[in-house]
Amino acid sequence: MQTLQRQHLDEPALLAFAADLAGALQEGVVIYLSGDLGAGKTTFSRGFIQALGHQGAVKSPTYTLVEPYEALPRPVYHFDLYRLADPEELEYLGVREYFNDTAVCLVEWPSCGGGFLPAADVEIRILRPAADCRDIQLQAKTPKGERLLSRLA
Ligand code: ADP
Ligand code: MG
Repeated sequence: MQTLQRQHLDEPALLAFAADLAGALQEGVVIYLSGDLGAGKTTFSRGFIQALGHQGAVKSPTYTLVEPYEALPRPVYHFDLYRLADPEELEYLGVREYFNDTAVCLVEWPSCGGGFLPAADVEIRILRPAADCRDIQLQAKTPKGERLLSRLA
């Protein structure tokens, strides 16, 4: 499966890369975002969601678990599962309705979702080699993910 990497990105460059990925969307996808606290998962999500036309802030859905952006041409659901106590809660959250064919789901801390989270089309990992510098790795996990990354490459 296809992989893609960018290195030594400062914050504007990371935001620009997120916007490029958003610009390459042609169908709904599930994107997992991994990396330590402060790696830049929410920052990346902000660049992505604002590039799709959202004008306001993009705050971390740490306490709400999911923040919907449904006024956009393509609905985006931004998850942060860091505080998910029990993966089964995802059922009550109605997770299946969010993960449909047209929506884009961005998921921070997917490892907290246990077996209740739909599989990713693209897995993104953000590394923090220095305070202001980030490396980002993308891996396609499905044909849909492959198509997205190949439009970017
Ligand atoms: P996470 O969601 O992974 O916990 P955040 O996006 O909330 O991380 O935080 C990343 C922090 O790192 C922000 O305060 C951001 O301003 C800072 N930062 C510094 N350099 C960069 C960079 N190159 N890319 C992204 N964020 C950066
Ligand atoms: Mg975050």
